[in-house]
Amino acid sequence: MRKPIMAGNWKMYKTPAETTTFFEKFLPLVEKSEHCEIVICPPFTDIAAAVTAVQGTRIGIGAQNLYWAKEGAFTGEVSGPMIKASGCTHVLVGHSERRQYFEETNETVLQRTVAALEAGLTPIVCVGERLGERESGETEAVLSLQFRAGIGLLSPEQFARIAIAYEPVWAIGTGKTATPEIAADAHRVLRAQVRGHYGAAAADAVRILYGGSVKPDNVRVLMAQPEIDGVLVGGASLDANSFASIVNF
Ligand code: PEP
Repeated sequence: MRKPIMAGNWKMYKTPAETTTFFEKFLPLVEKSEHCEIVICPPFTDIAAAVTAVQGTRIGIGAQNLYWAKEGAFTGEVSGPMIKASGCTHVLVGHSERRQYFEETNETVLQRTVAALEAGLTPIVCVGERLGERESGETEAVLSLQFRAGIGLLSPEQFARIAIAYEPVWAIGTGKTATPEIAADAHRVLRAQVRGHYGAAAADAVRILYGGSVKPDNVRVLMAQPEIDGVLVGGASLDANSFASIVNF
């Protein structure tokens, strides 16, 4: 049985004070939620407040990106060891907004994933097709390429320590959720790639999250799909009640 990961991506929202307020409301609502792992990825500037707030709980804190060098003259960047030392357990890699606005490629996704693993963080690596790619029937080819040119180049030992998030770009922040069947089909494509590269045991073990306009009212049908091992939630993770409803689907 794969334990679900219910992850929140706060994108570029909230101050440290707002982070503290969020957790004051959120923690009592998920005190008994042992059926899943909970991870929240705030902006870098909120990590200290978030780590303090979740001390003594099972909630993990993740960064939203990292640079692959350990340190150096890379103004504006943050490294894996720095994120780890700040108390994070996870890091998002290759989110579609990073691919779209910051020229992230499958190659840099791989470099960041390796750097995260070397720092002892769990990378949640995002993949997903754009609307035009889906409409022209290229979804499977795009996902396969993102896999082969990115995380498919990890060693089996490295691969065993990552989670994957399938996030169709057309469903992120748009209110358009993939139907459970569309999501499950894409997860099957990804799991088949894992099976081909790393074998049946790795394919059975890897957790593939779905992300794209997940809300309290659609999480249950998504999580009813055996292929879906959790969710990565943007907008609806900013509100404590809404994200707690998602966690407690
Ligand atoms: C995300 O940011 O990863 C995401 C899925 O956003 P939203 O839930 O707002 O679509």
